[in-house]
Amino acid sequence: MDREQLRHELAQRLDVVRARIAAACWRAGRKPAEVTLVAVTKYVSNDVARALFDLGVADLGESRPQELWAKAAALPTTVRWHQIGHLQRNKVERTIPIATLIHSIDSVRLLNKVVEEADRQLKSVEVLIEVNLSGESEKTGMAIESLEEAVAVLQKAARVRCHGLMTMAAMQEPEACRGTFAKLRTLLATYGDRLVRTDMPWQLSMGMSNDFEVAIEEGATMVRVGSCLFEGIPSEVLR
Ligand SMILES: *Cc1c(COP(=O)(O)O)cnc(C)c1O
Repeated sequence: MDREQLRHELAQRLDVVRARIAAACWRAGRKPAEVTLVAVTKYVSNDVARALFDLGVADLGESRPQELWAKAAALPTTVRWHQIGHLQRNKVERTIPIATLIHSIDSVRLLNKVVEEADRQLKSVEVLIEVNLSGESEKTGMAIESLEEAVAVLQKAARVRCHGLMTMAAMQEPEACRGTFAKLRTLLATYGDRLVRTDMPWQLSMGMSNDFEVAIEEGATMVRVGSCLFEGIPSEVLR
């Protein structure tokens, strides 16, 4: 598969994903413009990520901060980078200047570190709070009981703006994830007034390749889609 064939293949995959997003929106009485596609590039090289950007995907997501830094250095500065995976506190300093949105504030401890670093760098930082709803210990995210404390930290934070909530559903049948997504929507309805500043739209980052349509039906405004863009393409082409 040469460069041009890869580009063609990626364009087709994107068309399919966008059509599926649109269909899920219509089923839910929503507009496709309400849903941002974050293409997760953790499986692919800088060149492949660049090809997606050139095909019109402005929002790219990485799960490891080091990979986010490396790709950001190699791609145009107009890419909107999303830090979607666990962020270690010692990587906050370098991630803040690059990430458009950090989806994975998964503890109050990390939130405090981000607040401290944003003040030190005099930099505005945009975040989502990741909530663990699946109850699986290997899944990241803060417990619902910690949200009050997060609200208290955010209300005193001058430079860190929270836009909403993120979650990861357990890997199972898409329909079985619906309850988790509905629960995140309910949580945002409960905490949104205090979590998100009044001048900003509320964001719900939920849904991956396996379950993004159900997530959209339940109110997702950002879906993080990786493998269904790349599945089946030979790894020597992707890497
Ligand atoms: C890898 C990853 C995704 C994308 O998952 P796919 O199943 O490949 O679509 C979404 N969110 C997070 C946090 C991830 O780490």
